Amino acid sequence: MADSPAADRPRAQNLRDYIDRLGRDSLAGCTACGKCFEACPMPGYSQALAAQTGPAIVEGVLQLLRGARGSDAALEWINLCTYSARCVPACPEGVNPMLMLRVARMKVLGALGDAPQLERPEDKAFFRRIHAFAALQLNDDEIDAWQR
Ligand code: SF4
Repeated sequence: MADSPAADRPRAQNLRDYIDRLGRDSLAGCTACGKCFEACPMPGYSQALAAQTGPAIVEGVLQLLRGARGSDAALEWINLCTYSARCVPACPEGVNPMLMLRVARMKVLGALGDAPQLERPEDKAFFRRIHAFAALQLNDDEIDAWQR
């Protein structure tokens, strides 16, 4: 694994600085290899992502971080992310893909001053997403107990 691009850098001065640096570090370190997408459990829950390749999806996320419009598939992936963190150890470049997606999500929701590209979720899929997330974290007995 390569050194993290975050190594040896000065500390962020505030939250916005930190978020901006996360975005810049992602752009500097990410090679769009797609391994984070391949490690992600969520595309299996999306017909729109079933035929997509990791490099194409991630390139769409990087476009978005550069300030361009993200691809529909990239937006779908960002929207589906449950922050399972399975992508983090999959990255060979020391990028934190989970945080990369988190910054991308802030951008597409307009929280960082960009024009929104996604509607803020009223979140029709909220409970479905919780269920999927819980299924990734809990064993079968724990899920049974939780659903009672
Ligand atoms: S695994 Fe790392 S380098 Fe590869 S696409 Fe994801 S963030 Fe970029």
